[in-house]
Amino acid sequence: MKFDVLTLFPEMIQQACSHSIISRAVDKEIIRINTINPRDFSKDKHRKVDDTPFGGGAGMVLMCQPYFDAFDSIERDENTRVLLMSPQGRAFDQKMALELAQCEHVVLMCGHYEGFDERIKEYTHAEEVSIGDFVLTGGELPALCIIDSVSRNIDGCLGKIDSAHFDSFSDGLLEHPHYTKPREYVGMRVPDVLFEGNHAKINRWRRKQQLIVTKKKRPDLYAEFKKNCKDKEDLKLLNEVENENIDYN
Ligand code: SAM
Repeated sequence: MKFDVLTLFPEMIQQACSHSIISRAVDKEIIRINTINPRDFSKDKHRKVDDTPFGGGAGMVLMCQPYFDAFDSIERDENTRVLLMSPQGRAFDQKMALELAQCEHVVLMCGHYEGFDERIKEYTHAEEVSIGDFVLTGGELPALCIIDSVSRNIDGCLGKIDSAHFDSFSDGLLEHPHYTKPREYVGMRVPDVLFEGNHAKINRWRRKQQLIVTKKKRPDLYAEFKKNCKDKEDLKLLNEVENENIDYN
């Protein structure tokens, strides 16, 4: 999988990708992260990439020429996904992360200042993607969020791909709680079921916990899951959760 990131601040991308799991995935050549700086393509004698908005108003707008040329320098084919970071875009979620993890090439376009000249979106046919209903100073953090969450769903990136399969949102529910040593700490005990060595029982307990945690923290996801659930075991667990007196506050 190759990520090409169009950014005026390549160091932000390179530095953030030089740690932990993402850096190891780069070393193992599972992913490649390349940066392209539109400033290097500017034909202006001062390497200008932005200008004042037509019609007046505050801020600076990213200009067509450096972005068109930087975009054209990227080798692409019909399977390349071109994403333009924008607070106005489709909300990025786990479903999209899993979808992108199947691609071989993703281009991420990072804006800055007031954002892109509208014609850049038209020229690149990019899909606008947002990481939430808030406005950041630039598209680098959104691009990094996408690189990180897509990469961890690519085979070989995590130690065990299983650890991504059971992540929150993968099947519409949040993940069950985790515990590690010691078994008891300041009087707080780990649930006994995790020590009984009965994996079927542990799996059932974890699944039920997923339902409880989701009902408590994300009633919207829980309602959706309940509406569409067809699995016999899940239906039994849903029934138990619905009929037990659990404190959801
Ligand atoms: N004036 C724009 C607006 O109100 O829609 C916001 C521009 S923002 C200050 C500068 C750049 O940051 C954007 O072009 C985009 O690339 C990036 N950005 C900011 N917030 C974002 C978000 N929530 N999701 C994705 N990208 C974002």
